[in-house]
Amino acid sequence: MIRIDILTVVPELLESPLNYSIVKRAKEKGLASINVHDIREYGKGRYRQVDDYPFGGDAGMVIMIEPVFSIISKLKEERKYDEIIYMSPDGEQYNQKIANSLSCKTNIMILCGHYKGIDHRIREHLITREISVGDYVLSGGEIPAAILCDSIIRLIPGAISDETSALSDSFQDNLLAPPVYTRPADFNGWRVPDVLLSGNPKLIKEWQESESLKRTKELRPGLLDED
Ligand code: SAH
Repeated sequence: MIRIDILTVVPELLESPLNYSIVKRAKEKGLASINVHDIREYGKGRYRQVDDYPFGGDAGMVIMIEPVFSIISKLKEERKYDEIIYMSPDGEQYNQKIANSLSCKTNIMILCGHYKGIDHRIREHLITREISVGDYVLSGGEIPAAILCDSIIRLIPGAISDETSALSDSFQDNLLAPPVYTRPADFNGWRVPDVLLSGNPKLIKEWQESESLKRTKELRPGLLDED
């Protein structure tokens, strides 16, 4: 059972990606729990202020340290966290290996930035890890946080009906996945490879392995040199 706490100023953005399909079923089976916290509930004053103008006079708003400190402190009093992750375009680039290692953790906290970002002191003093989903800038960390949750939860044994299925996906073993087909075997003359219809599991496995290797060499040769 993994517990993920997500801290956000726009909880609505996380509603649909975390409440359907595999993630939803994993939650229902008790394999994962995802708790979305609205930073605004910890906001300052009558208007629950969570952001303010940046020092130095730049454009854009910055998420303030007080509400984030309050919520992180409260959660840390309740349990021990393996990682407190900040989603950030300048963080380490997310990949399957990080997903694999995070899927073995028990308690993870994910902080989503918004606007211009978050007060840097949060990153200096409260965050244990910073992760980026790619070299481009999004409006908020919510979609990146949903990417982390989805990729982690589908790896938990039992989350996917065929347990081995997540392990045969692309990037496991540094290989891309082989092509997949379904009925009809012949669509207007576009045929499925004969071997898949042979009923011979050994031949099928060999074909899949050689296709995996072929696609990896063609599309992502660098993967073959990784650890
Ligand atoms: N001013 C910042 C970007 C702020 S974008 C900069 O130039 O680096 C607002 C928020 O979206 C960020 O605080 C971060 O939480 C999230 N975000 C944007 N792009 C992201 C990415 N590629 N990976 C992870 N989080 C991202």
